[in-house]
Amino acid sequence: TSSRCADLALHAFARGRLCLPEGGAEALPEHLAAALPPGVVRTGVRVTSVSTSSVRTAEHGAFTCRAVLLATDARAAAELLPGLRVPPFHEVTVVHHTAPEPPLDGPALLLDADRGGPVAHTAVISQVDPSRAPVGRVLVSSTVLGPPPEESAVRAHLAALYGTPTDRWERLGVHHTREAVPAMPPPHDIRRPVRLLSGLYVCGDHRDTSTVQGALHSGRRAAHAVLTDFGITPSYARETLPTAA
Ligand SMILES: Cc1cc2nc3c(=O)[nH]c(=O)nc-3n(C[C@H](O)[C@H](O)[C@H](O)COP(=O)(O)OP(=O)(O)OC[C@H]3O[C@@H](n4cnc5c(N)ncnc54)[C@H](O)[C@@H]3O)c2cc1C
Repeated sequence: TSSRCADLALHAFARGRLCLPEGGAEALPEHLAAALPPGVVRTGVRVTSVSTSSVRTAEHGAFTCRAVLLATDARAAAELLPGLRVPPFHEVTVVHHTAPEPPLDGPALLLDADRGGPVAHTAVISQVDPSRAPVGRVLVSSTVLGPPPEESAVRAHLAALYGTPTDRWERLGVHHTREAVPAMPPPHDIRRPVRLLSGLYVCGDHRDTSTVQGALHSGRRAAHAVLTDFGITPSYARETLPTAA
């Protein structure tokens, strides 16, 4: 992975704190959608083709439009706009356990810098966001960068990381995603173009860094490009900077 991504991660750690959206990953797009007028967002609709002036869908036919911003994963984007690059991907497995007691007192992300087992990082998610687990239950979520490993290897590694026996832990689920995140080998361009031509834009983690933050940042860049092409000055660009003393 490009060291530029490590620099960005260290920069983010230095400037702020780690966070999770309360209630689950879907809480973030739900909050964004809630700020829009009712009825303008439709979900569960599969797009089959796009152009600068129309979007064709599997379920609802074609929609005409003044511009299209494609915000799918990299592979779907390249299927809809042949010529877009399909990056190599990393696979990720997330293993969820419940434990009789929280193995840590507070919210913290444990990273294994020694790579002493299959787990890359782990957290007691119920300590970070209690709404993700039933009241009184402990949820430990652990990420493996690769295919699902043997459960015994995961348990042994978690026991070492948390410094507590894990034989009474119960495995709740294993989720494996083969194309989880676009790989970012050096030299990684963290600002891939989001404006393909006037009226056609693309955003997503594959245009920036392979993170939620990267996806959001590329979305902001793309929205800015759309507004600029429409001759609209976004409200945030009109804010005056505080003057220095
Ligand atoms: C297991 C796992 C753990 C991760 N953990 C972290 C983490 O801890 N921190 C972090 O920052 N990032 C993490 N990531 C990465 C992060 O989830 C992604 O980088 C981010 O979700 C990318 O957002 P996106 O909007 O670019 O794409 P996506 O979230 O993939 O959204 C694309 C959307 O496009 C839709 N779509 C695709 N094709 C079509 C079509 N033809 N018509 C209509 N809709 C379509 C899809 O249904 C999807 O909803 C993780 C990813 C995985 C898989």
